[in-house]
Amino acid sequence: MISTAINHGIVVDTHEKKCRKLHVGLDGSKIAVLSETPLQGEKVIDASGFYVAPGFIDVHGHIDGSLYPAELSACQGVTVTVGGNCGLSPADLDAFFCTQEERGFPIHQAMLIGHGTPLRQAVGITDPYQKADKRQIAQMVAMAEEALRQGACGISFGLDYVPGCDIEEVIALARLAAKYHRICPVHTRLLTEGDLYSLFEIIKVAEQTGAHMLISHFVYQYCEGLIERALRMVDRARDRGLPIHIDSGMYTNWATFFDTATFEYQNIQANHWKWDQMVVATGQYKGQVMNEELFFHMKKYAPHESVICFEGNEQEVYECLVKDYAMPSSDTCGYEKGEGHPQIAGSFPRYLRKMVREKKLLSLEEAVYKATLLPATLFGFEEKGCIEPGMDGDLTVFSLEEICDKADYPHRGEPDAKPLGIPYVFVDGKCVVEKGEYQNTRSGKTIRKQEK
Ligand SMILES: [Zn+2]
Repeated sequence: MISTAINHGIVVDTHEKKCRKLHVGLDGSKIAVLSETPLQGEKVIDASGFYVAPGFIDVHGHIDGSLYPAELSACQGVTVTVGGNCGLSPADLDAFFCTQEERGFPIHQAMLIGHGTPLRQAVGITDPYQKADKRQIAQMVAMAEEALRQGACGISFGLDYVPGCDIEEVIALARLAAKYHRICPVHTRLLTEGDLYSLFEIIKVAEQTGAHMLISHFVYQYCEGLIERALRMVDRARDRGLPIHIDSGMYTNWATFFDTATFEYQNIQANHWKWDQMVVATGQYKGQVMNEELFFHMKKYAPHESVICFEGNEQEVYECLVKDYAMPSSDTCGYEKGEGHPQIAGSFPRYLRKMVREKKLLSLEEAVYKATLLPATLFGFEEKGCIEPGMDGDLTVFSLEEICDKADYPHRGEPDAKPLGIPYVFVDGKCVVEKGEYQNTRSGKTIRKQEK
């Protein structure tokens, strides 16, 4: 007898972009059978009225081994998180993978190697305004190659955090990624308000190296009236055959660490951000709206906290995510309970609620495809992203009528409030969320990319 039967649900076929009433059987870690008649199993779930989709793949997160955000991700229907984004990752990926494999994890983890920390730091560059010389670039390439051999799924960049980085650093590393057929997610520079050069330079990198570029949290980079022009640039680059995709969350207001170049006084001035556009997301000042006094106090006494910057308008999120080359992502991070940004608990339910149910900007099938098979294909997760016998047993069962994000900003509500309408999530064939509650499971594996 198979381990789990999920009967009477509506199965989303991500290849055909069609829905069919089918009964799904899981056995061990795999999808074992799709059947026209109800199945028997050790565990039987009645999914009448629910969609059964492949588990969502979150291409942009900063979970990197921390348990609580992984739990929140599981409750959102995410079964794979890609970590090591924005140029920030563990230095020794092999050691990271081994630790995670030993203890198990709520969801699957794929990892990128980060250009900022560890690579730049490892070659002795601690000043974000300093550029690497030829010798340092060669050293970074050698270290990145080692990480790719250990299974990194790509090389990430956080150019905003290293304003002094020379584009030659990016080009050298992107060439290496192209050689290994791995992806390069880039958090572009935020030079000043209205800037699009930062996007242009990444399009150039795609052109010069052939590397597949993924522009991270696109709305966070190009909101405030820029989105239309930014998307047009990507459209044109893709029309010329350049390998570029983008990802975006469902929010325009982004969060990052207070001690980054982003939140330097000079940068705040250059971008014309007002104090009351910023809210503290973590620590003892959580929920407080920024003012000049708090700013300088925190710079001195609480530099490691996260701060949310409010900008842009919601419409820009929709304009971005309707594009067929855009994927939903969370930008989730390792916050403590009760802290953070609503993206950690609300991103994927909000994506389905807004894009499909309320605004009808995407069909359900298209929306699910963009959160499953599209990222699986881009990252080369060959046994994920669709529901077929032999594929990994990663499934998300949700109700389109009920799905709803409950998380809110820390000055208004609970940033980690769990969503409604996702009763079951399976990771590697195990039920990790039941009746909307995380089951304290550890069936998530590490995804180490193999050399081809
Ligand atoms: Zn980022």
